[in-house]
Amino acid sequence: MPSQHAKVLILGSGPAGWTAAIYAARANLEPTVLHGPARGGQLMLTTEVENYPGFEHGIMGPKLMELFEAQAVRFGTKVVQAWATEVDLGKRPFTVKTLTDGDFTCDTLIVATGAEARWLNLPNETRIRDAGGGVSACATCDGAFFKNKELVVVGGGDTAMEEANFLTRYASKVTVVHRRDKLRASKIMADRAQANPKIAFVWDSEVVDVLDTNGNKRIRAVVLENYKTKARTEFACGGLFVAIGHKPNTELFTGKLDLDAKGYLVTQGKTTYTNVPGVFACGDVQDSVYRQAVTAAGTGCMAAIDAERWLEAHAHG
Ligand code: NDP
Repeated sequence: MPSQHAKVLILGSGPAGWTAAIYAARANLEPTVLHGPARGGQLMLTTEVENYPGFEHGIMGPKLMELFEAQAVRFGTKVVQAWATEVDLGKRPFTVKTLTDGDFTCDTLIVATGAEARWLNLPNETRIRDAGGGVSACATCDGAFFKNKELVVVGGGDTAMEEANFLTRYASKVTVVHRRDKLRASKIMADRAQANPKIAFVWDSEVVDVLDTNGNKRIRAVVLENYKTKARTEFACGGLFVAIGHKPNTELFTGKLDLDAKGYLVTQGKTTYTNVPGVFACGDVQDSVYRQAVTAAGTGCMAAIDAERWLEAHAHG
């Protein structure tokens, strides 16, 4: 299969990837977006998005991604569904090998492969989450849907503390379930959560099941198992927030681009430049802090502008 060439190749189809495509396409760079089976990224797993500016009454996550894609395509973005298996960033043009569509070469590469929340991987967790039935991994995105509910947060790190604190704005009570008797979170975050009168803690316990009523896909309780005694109890709640960390999708780039200690791509200063000239990174794959659709879109715009200027500066080799 002959290789296909793009001036700008974008890996990933979340808010960062599509925004990079919109900007690159409008700059007449004819970008190609390569995406895997999870077209649209993490927003495809959310229901209503209320905090994306410009949508006064909110918009469904998948619909928002459909609009991003349509806008990118309107300006001439080529979209290919193909799983990238390997990248060669050692020489230009760069090469991206795919499972089904051969090799893609490019003058600049924009990495927008995103991150994934870690889940507990319980069958009912997935079933109820996918139905929008009260299982989430993002308090900022979904917290407002849980007014006056009793909620459970799983995890003992900074994310869990931050989520629990944030959720007390809406919830009547938040119970943090942690598998040990000591928090991993930084002292300041742990102290803040422990001082919050709306937050309770259940120690040495894991969530081993998520329950609904007669298969209606609305959470009514979680099943807790005490790690030491193995005793199981049903714990009634109106929502479950899983906060056991995120995993950036950087496997392709291990040993090829600089990663930080948490596995996120490192970008330079206030730019989207990686350590390889001509390779740019945007969105959650390089952001362990903000992780919002709007911030991902913002850095996608930056990556396209960085790529455009880089191409201009290197037009003659
Ligand atoms: P962490 O890896 O720090 O913590 C994950 C937590 O989830 C741990 O308490 C861990 O338990 C628990 N956990 C992991 N797997 C499971 C499982 N299968 N079942 C039950 N519990 C599980 O991730 P975070 O997302 O909390 O933080 C990531 C990084 O981001 C950290 O460096 C953190 O400091 C930073 N961060 C900073 C913030 C801030 O400063 N505002 C806000 C949020 C994150 P155990 O402790 O037993 O390993």
